[in-house]
Amino acid sequence: MLVDGHNRVVDYLRVSVTERCNFRCQYCMPEKPFSWVPKENLLSYEELFKFVQVAIDEGIKKVRITGGEPLLREGLEHFIKMIYDYKNDIDLALTSNAYLLPQAAQKLKSAGLKRINISLDSLKPDVAAKIAQKDVLSTVLKGIQTAHDVGLKIKINCVPMRGVNDTELVDILEFCKQRGYTVRFIEFMENQHAYSGAKGYTSEEIQAIIAQKYNFKKLERTGSSPSQDYILDDGYVFGIIEPHKDDFCATCNRVRLTASGVLIPCLYFEDAQSIKEAIKNNDIDKAVAILKEVLANKPEKNKWSADDTSSRAFYETGG
Ligand code: SAM
Ligand code: SF4
Repeated sequence: MLVDGHNRVVDYLRVSVTERCNFRCQYCMPEKPFSWVPKENLLSYEELFKFVQVAIDEGIKKVRITGGEPLLREGLEHFIKMIYDYKNDIDLALTSNAYLLPQAAQKLKSAGLKRINISLDSLKPDVAAKIAQKDVLSTVLKGIQTAHDVGLKIKINCVPMRGVNDTELVDILEFCKQRGYTVRFIEFMENQHAYSGAKGYTSEEIQAIIAQKYNFKKLERTGSSPSQDYILDDGYVFGIIEPHKDDFCATCNRVRLTASGVLIPCLYFEDAQSIKEAIKNNDIDKAVAILKEVLANKPEKNKWSADDTSSRAFYETGG
């Protein structure tokens, strides 16, 4: 079992397989970064898998693959299958923008993927195109439907942005409710890579918008999810992820690995360590030692502050 320096059991690994993306979301990567990690600096799938194996042996029970856009990296289904074949009861999930899902969903499901979280910020083609800086909506909707049809469990992530998609929050909630998907609204996290004019909504403001149409109650927090859940009168549950607060830190169970082998104990904490050399040298003991050291130094609470916007890019850490 992996336990961090504050006695929290860490059993959730998020693996970013690329920082590249086919969208340019205003809140994440509005401009093409000039500092892409060169391909040769990335860990191969075999190397990433070597670390995932170690992490599973040490107690990881849930693995989420993310990016950038993970479906841009060729052969993702093989990586998923490697993990599934190693331990088929691992909770194996993916976060994606869904653009490549129409052709990939069946392959991912057959490889062992169970769940998928999809970004959907608007149901209006022009607004979706403004956010992603590309005409994406019809393909994204097709991707979501295909994922549903092949039997993947779906959650939708939506980042409400002031003056952009704020009139659509109820529509997005209803889109999800009608189809049996969970929706989570995510407070926009200020960061140095986002469009400088981007402004988000607080959880309270998001609740006030939904309250104009629906009655709902706050649910007790259970488990380790960062989402604060709310239940409508008809039983539908939606969530709000409130990264500006630190209520969820007490039960945080996660650690992140970037595509170039950097282990990050917390999104809003600059310290991190690389397992790249250890994995490339097949030095498994060293990789385990680094993992345990990173967890020993995992901060008790996130160190995010509004005056000191994070320099870490979401497309690098995988969100
Ligand atoms: N490309 C995939 C996608 O968009 O789902 C996976 C990577 S993306 C970095 C993971 C999540 O981070 C997405 O749900 C996205 O909405 C969220 N995200 C990115 N930038 C954010 C920001 N500045 N504030 C809050 N959430 C953000
Ligand atoms: Fe790409 Fe996801 Fe970032 Fe949008 S949020 S730019 S889809 S990595």
